[in-house]
Amino acid sequence: MRDIARGWHAAGHSIGLVPTMGALHAGHMSLVDQACRENDKVVVSVFVNPIQFTAGEDLGRYPRSPERDLSLLRAAGVDAVYKPSVADMYPTGASTHVIVHGVADALEGAARPGHFEGVATVVAKLFAATSADRAYFGQKDAQQVAVVKRLASDLDLGVEIRVCPTVREADGLALSSRNAYLNPAERQAAVCLSRALGLAAEAYGRGERDPARLRAILREVIDAEPLAKLDYAEVVDAATFFTPGSLALVAVRIGATRLIDNHDLKLPYPG
Ligand code: AMP
Repeated sequence: MRDIARGWHAAGHSIGLVPTMGALHAGHMSLVDQACRENDKVVVSVFVNPIQFTAGEDLGRYPRSPERDLSLLRAAGVDAVYKPSVADMYPTGASTHVIVHGVADALEGAARPGHFEGVATVVAKLFAATSADRAYFGQKDAQQVAVVKRLASDLDLGVEIRVCPTVREADGLALSSRNAYLNPAERQAAVCLSRALGLAAEAYGRGERDPARLRAILREVIDAEPLAKLDYAEVVDAATFFTPGSLALVAVRIGATRLIDNHDLKLPYPG
């Protein structure tokens, strides 16, 4: 991968990277399309990164669709698909991890200890392997965006982090590889995440700024759904994930499936 990337840079081409864990859907493909518009060469990495899963999570049953992924990426016209094995990425003796403090500590970081350490480590390795000039991440994983921006800036990685809007189903549910776990009743219930964010955005639009009141709106909608169990509902600053701001986030368990979603309340809610 590095040899190919060096060749591209030597020829004066810019390189865009789209990191994924495969099981590709229209959300991933929106990142790929933007990368193709903004770069001469586009690499999509497909790697189910074991070190970002915490104990008891769904690593073993994480959805995989390798042939379908490749045909989607071929049709999109990407220049390379980087698919390292676990042993390629973490050979025996590998013992360096990247830890981002502060922004990675709360919410997903608290609920999934070690998750962002795994993300920051693999992302730093993918940036190094691909020599990417730009890397594309989804707003769907807002805290991941904040962590990766911090990482790129703090370690002077020279990669521009590009953030792409969340792609949603017609009823508002954010596309996610994990939606495949939902049975029909759970799938219906899952709309409560986007509904909660929509109602909070409406309240914000009417002038509501009290974080406790906005959190209560999020919580009330999730609590009203019998199949949903709230993990957290927060409104924070999108860069620090700790100081007050306008980014509303929810994490919800629907049966055995954990779903996350977010929306910047300053923006009109789509739909
Ligand atoms: P994943 O394969 O789940 O690790 O996701 C790879 C990238 O796709 C991440 O940057 C995600 O934020 C992004 N992504 C996942 N779902 C969506 C979505 N519904 N809309 C936009 N981007 C997404």
